[in-house]
Amino acid sequence: MKTTLDIINHAMQEHPNAALAFSGGSDSIVLMDVIFKRTDHRPVVIYADSGMEHPETLPFIRKVCKRYGASLHVAKPTRSYLEQWQAQGWPMLGKLAAVMWMQKHRDRDFGYRLNVTGCCRNMKILPARKLTKQLGCTLQFTGQRGNQDDALRGMRELKDGSICYIKADKLTVCNPLLGWTDMMIRRYIKQNKLQQHPAKARGAITIGCLYCGGGGQFTNSGFRILRHELPEQWRRFIVDNGAGEIILSIKYDKPLDPVREAVKSLGGISALADAHPWIFDFLRMRPLRGYDK
Ligand code: SF4
Repeated sequence: MKTTLDIINHAMQEHPNAALAFSGGSDSIVLMDVIFKRTDHRPVVIYADSGMEHPETLPFIRKVCKRYGASLHVAKPTRSYLEQWQAQGWPMLGKLAAVMWMQKHRDRDFGYRLNVTGCCRNMKILPARKLTKQLGCTLQFTGQRGNQDDALRGMRELKDGSICYIKADKLTVCNPLLGWTDMMIRRYIKQNKLQQHPAKARGAITIGCLYCGGGGQFTNSGFRILRHELPEQWRRFIVDNGAGEIILSIKYDKPLDPVREAVKSLGGISALADAHPWIFDFLRMRPLRGYDK
C-alpha cells in the first residue's frame, strides 16, 4: 500500500490536474477507493463507453462516483463498434492470437480482418485519453496491473514502469496498482466492503465489452455467457451484426464466402441461431481450457 500511495502522491505532485480512468471493474474500484479514501487528491473520473457495455455498468458507475463525490465524465468513440470492426478488424481471439491469425492467413483473403488492439484503442483508450486532455488534465491514472494480471501486461510493466509519458497521445499515464495480485485485489475489496459491479457480483468473469471475442477460444467464452445472460444482445451481435458468420469462419478456418454459402444452405443465420445457438459459442472446435482469475 505504501508503494501505491507513493506513486499516487508523486504523480499528483508532478501533475496536479489528473483524471482517473474508471471502468467499474475490480481493479478500478480498488484504485478509486485508495485515491478517494486514503489521499486528499480528487482527480476527475473518466468512463469510456464503447457502446458494448453491460446495461448495468453506467448506472453502477454513476452510483459509485456519487458515493465518493467524484466528478464523472463519459468518453465516447467517434465511430460505432461495427464501423470499427469493418474498418480495422474484429476483436476476436485476443491481442497476440489475432496478430498471429492475421500472419497465418495473410496469403488467403478471408473477407475480414482481426484486430483486437485497434478495437481497444479506438473504442476505449483513445476516447478516454482525448477527454482527459480536453478537461485540462496532463495525467491519467489507470487500474492496470502488471505481470500478476497477464504476461502481456507484465511486458508492458517492464517496458513502461508505473508512470510513463505516451508520446503518441501526449499524455502521462500512471498505473499505481502494478505489483498487486488477484488475491490482494480480492482481499482489499472484502476488507473494505467495496460494492462490486452487479455482473461481477453474480459471478461474471469480466464486466468488459459484451461483444468482445478476446476470450472466445476458451471454455469460458464470453459468447456463451452472453447467450445465456443477455439473449437479446447476443442475437443482435450474432445475427444483426454478422458476428455469427465471422465466428464460424474462424472456427472452421474457412473464408467468409464459403461460410456464407453454407449458412444459406442451412436456412440462413437467423434460423441457425434459433436451431443451433451453441455453434457460435467458441472460436475453436475444441475450446482451450479457460483462464480462471
Ligand atoms: S474489450 Fe474487446 S470489444 Fe471492447 S474495446 Fe477492447 S477489443 Fe474492443
